[in-house]
Amino acid sequence: IEAQLRQSQKMEAIGQLTGGIAHDFNNLLQVVIGSLEGLQRRAGALLGSPRGADMQRFIDNALRGANRAANLTGRLLAFSRRQTLDAKPTDVGKLVTGLSDLLRRTLGEAISIASVNADDLWRVSVDANQLESALLNLAVNARDAMPSGGKLTIETANTGLDEKYTSQFDGLEPGQFVVIAVSDTGVGMSADVIERAFEPFFTTKEVGHGTGLGLSQVYGFVRQSGGHVRVYSEVGEGTTVKLFLPRLASDAVHDEPAEHRPVAASR
Ligand code: ADP
Repeated sequence: IEAQLRQSQKMEAIGQLTGGIAHDFNNLLQVVIGSLEGLQRRAGALLGSPRGADMQRFIDNALRGANRAANLTGRLLAFSRRQTLDAKPTDVGKLVTGLSDLLRRTLGEAISIASVNADDLWRVSVDANQLESALLNLAVNARDAMPSGGKLTIETANTGLDEKYTSQFDGLEPGQFVVIAVSDTGVGMSADVIERAFEPFFTTKEVGHGTGLGLSQVYGFVRQSGGHVRVYSEVGEGTTVKLFLPRLASDAVHDEPAEHRPVAASR
C-alpha cells in the first residue's frame, strides 16, 4: 500500500510538470498548424504551378513535423489528465470486437488473437476513441514483447461476478468495474520496469522504436475516466495489463437513455 501511495504521488508530480508544458506547447502548435494550413489555402494556385512544387514540399514537411509534435503533446496531455474527453455510455464488448481487424493487421500473422467477452457486460461511460487508442497501445506493446510470435488475449468481465475478477485487483471494490484484460505471452517485465512503465518517456526500446508514451497515455486516460490500471508480469512468461473502468451507476436502475435516468443510489 505504501509503495502504491509513493508511486501515485510520483505520477502526480510528473503529471503536473509535463501537463503544464504540454498544454502551452500544444496551444503554440495549433497556431503553427493553423497558419500553415492557411498559407496552403491562400497560395493554392501558386502551389499548383511548376515553380510552386518546391514550396508545397516545404509546407508539407512543416505540417508533418508540427502534426507529429501535436500528437506527442496530445499523449502528454492524456498522461497528465488534461485532455478533453468525450465520455459516452459505451458497450466495451462491442468496441473490442470492432477492433479485431485492426488488431490482426497490427499484430501480424505470428501472433494469434483470442478475445473472451462476458455476456451482459455492464456499460461504462468513456471516450470510445481514447479507449480504442489505449487498447491499440497495449497491442503494440504486446507485439513488441513477442518478436517471434505468441498469443494475445483480450478478456472483458464485470468485476466481482467471476472468481477470477474478485481477488486480483488490489483493494478495488468488487461490483463497480468493467475490466479489460490484455495479456501476452511475451518477454515480460522485471519489477524495476513495472515500477517505471507508466512514466512518460520511460522506454526500454531502442531509439526510434519507442517513445515511452504508450502506457502513459493509457494510465492518464483511464485515471481521468475514474478507473484504474494494473500490470501483472513475469519475466519470460508474459504480461497482463488490466483496465478497470467504472460501471455506469445508473445502469443498475433501468435502461433508459442516460439523460433521462435518475441518479442511482450507491450500493
Ligand atoms: P514504449 O512502448 O514506447 O517503450 P510504453 O510506455 O508503452 O512505451 O512502455 C514502456 C515500457 O514498458 C516498454 O519500453 C517496455 O519495456 C515495457 N512494456 C510495456 N508493455 C509491455 C509488455 N506487454 N511486455 C513487456 N514489456 C512491456
